Amino acid sequence: MRDHLSCQEVVELITDYLEHSLPSETAAVFEEHINFCDGCEAYLLQMRATIAAVGHLDQDDVPPAARDRLLEAFRHWRRP
Ligand SMILES: [Zn+2]
Repeated sequence: MRDHLSCQEVVELITDYLEHSLPSETAAVFEEHINFCDGCEAYLLQMRATIAAVGHLDQDDVPPAARDRLLEAFRHWRRP
């Protein structure tokens, strides 16, 4: 596991993080990024608020434009 995540990677991992389905070492790197990145911290808080409002989180809660862009980035990132 790398010791750094890009903002796009953090955003893509947020749902897994909030569902506690990230491996512990990934969650640690994720939290490290959140600690120094105000933008991702704000996004995490926003996602938490969304979950609190609707009781769960699914793909439909992510704004479509952002989701499409991030899924495109994620496809390349996941490729071995
Ligand atoms: Zn960030």
